[in-house]
Amino acid sequence: MINPALLREFQTVLGAENVFTDQADLLTYSYDAAVLAAVVPALALRPVDSESLSRVVRLCNENQLPLTVRGAGTNLSGGTIPIRGGVVLLTNALDKILEINSEDMYAIVQPGVVTAKLAAAVEAKGLFYPPDPGSQAVSTLGGNVAENAGGLRGLKYGVTRDYVMGLQFFNAEGESIKTGSKTVKCATGYNLAGLLVGSEGTLGVFNEITLKLIPPPARQKAMFAVFNDMDRASETVAAVIAHRIVPATLEFMDNFTIRAVEDFSRAGLPVDAAALLLIEVDGHPAQVEEDAGKVEYLCRKIGADSIRVAKDAAERDKVWAARRSALSALAKLKPTVVLEDATVPRSKIPEMVRAIQDISKQCDISIGTFGHAGDGNLHPTILTDRRDKEEWERVEAAIETIFDKALSLGGTLSGEHGTGIAKSCFLEKETGLATIRYSRRIKAAMDPNNILNPEKIIGYSNTR
Ligand SMILES: Cc1cc2nc3c(=O)[nH]c(=O)nc-3n(C[C@H](O)[C@H](O)[C@H](O)COP(=O)(O)OP(=O)(O)OC[C@H]3O[C@@H](n4cnc5c(N)ncnc54)[C@H](O)[C@@H]3O)c2cc1C
Repeated sequence: MINPALLREFQTVLGAENVFTDQADLLTYSYDAAVLAAVVPALALRPVDSESLSRVVRLCNENQLPLTVRGAGTNLSGGTIPIRGGVVLLTNALDKILEINSEDMYAIVQPGVVTAKLAAAVEAKGLFYPPDPGSQAVSTLGGNVAENAGGLRGLKYGVTRDYVMGLQFFNAEGESIKTGSKTVKCATGYNLAGLLVGSEGTLGVFNEITLKLIPPPARQKAMFAVFNDMDRASETVAAVIAHRIVPATLEFMDNFTIRAVEDFSRAGLPVDAAALLLIEVDGHPAQVEEDAGKVEYLCRKIGADSIRVAKDAAERDKVWAARRSALSALAKLKPTVVLEDATVPRSKIPEMVRAIQDISKQCDISIGTFGHAGDGNLHPTILTDRRDKEEWERVEAAIETIFDKALSLGGTLSGEHGTGIAKSCFLEKETGLATIRYSRRIKAAMDPNNILNPEKIIGYSNTR
């Protein structure tokens, strides 16, 4: 229950139309894209400008009210579930592109700007913002920065972190903190942006984000290599990287995923293939031809049964749209879909793909695997029904075995989906307890009342 005097204060700051107390509204903000129990917040608030955003944060802190920031709620790690109740802070009214600077190649945005909207706006000015999560049509840039989101182009162009030049955010007290700059280089002060990117709303609330833009590639060439043997496909991924070729995109789909995607999107994918590699090279036309030739040679040498080059932009776009629909396509097949993103060094992709197949058999559960194979980032996607308790236990065992395997190969628990509450209990396996204690000390120093997205990433800050 929110104290009525505080509720009135929120209404004065935001206007009554931006304060939500109705249970039906609040239910909407009780869950996200992770398969986790929902928690209904006491209140949802929608600031409309910097001033009201800062005041809401300050009021929450003064009243020791937990505050969970929510962009589009598409994260896959429970990052926006308000686990300790309190306030869910919506950023959808903070959706302005404040500046696109073509001369100095940067953009300044509010956190609620939808990723694809910025990409389209900069493209219209002859520039390029590469990070392209599969959710880009709805995800927000605030959510992307807070999760350090990746995407299909991560292999060549990197992830969101690589484009954050500066941040202006509010600390737990609602004070404005500035880090980074509009300049290409900035060595002033601590690299707070480095700490805040990927902090999942636990250390500050972004108000303005300065993002690097780059010139677009002059040419792209997309091709699809069809394999009748899954091992050959994953070995090709490792070989392309080992031969020092850096495609913009190198995506993998197993047969299970190909069938689901084709059924969903009718993009003309080969449904009998054991695996498919979707590859795009881009850059200077001469370089594109050279790289495409090398990739094609390696695919054939290692065992691709056929290779199709997209004949035009329309065909290319159709196949990438189909790839982006992979999660939605798989999600249609069963009541519950768990998308994992354990990530391994690229040379270990063949071993990891084999291990996922073995785990699927051992645990007797359906797993479709696709993902950014060129980054070592696979998305084993478990199709299940959470209401079936006996099967759910096998699902949980499979998830832990997948994590253990990835870590044993020198990998990491998450390539791009973050830790949230979904993976916080596994964090110690990867980092050790000292790292968690160190992180908790940082959190306690920056957010002494523990109001900012409590319990995410590092769990209970009052334990161990
Ligand atoms: C179909 C589908 C495909 C996906 N594909 C990809 C993919 O290819 N790559 C990838 O990386 N992820 C992917 N995701 C996961 C998800 O879309 C990303 O994590 C995305 O960055 C989340 O953005 P959002 O706006 O939905 O953030 P939300 O889910 O609303 O929030 C995510 C986190 O950011 C915090 N946050 C949001 N705004 C702020 C702010 N202003 N200040 C501080 N913290 C803030 C929240 O508190 C939360 O912890 C996919 C998800 C789906 C459902």
